[in-house]
Amino acid sequence: GLDPYDDQNIFAKILRGEIPNKTVYQDEFVLAFHDIAPQAPVHVLVIPKGAYVSARDFAARASDQDIAGFWRAVGRVAADLGLETEGYRLLSNHGLNAGQEVPHFHVHLFGGGPLGRMIQ
Ligand code: 5GP
Repeated sequence: GLDPYDDQNIFAKILRGEIPNKTVYQDEFVLAFHDIAPQAPVHVLVIPKGAYVSARDFAARASDQDIAGFWRAVGRVAADLGLETEGYRLLSNHGLNAGQEVPHFHVHLFGGGPLGRMIQ
């Protein structure tokens, strides 16, 4: 892809167990863990276990099974955290304009209370 994957990024280190995390769920496809600086009562990050920089990179290089496994896990985590009744928000930052901090594709899962219309 256009963006080479940096295997020293923080989420790569978390996946290798070099940095601790508060895991919510994991399987062969994903790791889901609490954000270190929560912006909502529930703020979880869901990341694929493979090395992908962006949604485009993930869609282009991951297998159909890995893509399906990722999205099933996102939905499962939201359900397991009890967020389905009251609702939740998914968000994924890409690049400079979005202020993406960590160059490993991830989806933020926000919930646990009214979220307003904040976009970050
Ligand atoms: P981005 O701006 O890339 O979409 O979001 C990166 C997110 O990762 C931020 O919400 C930030 O708080 C979170 N984060 C950064 N470093 C760590 C860390 O070491 N552990 C955890 N759990 N979250 C982190």
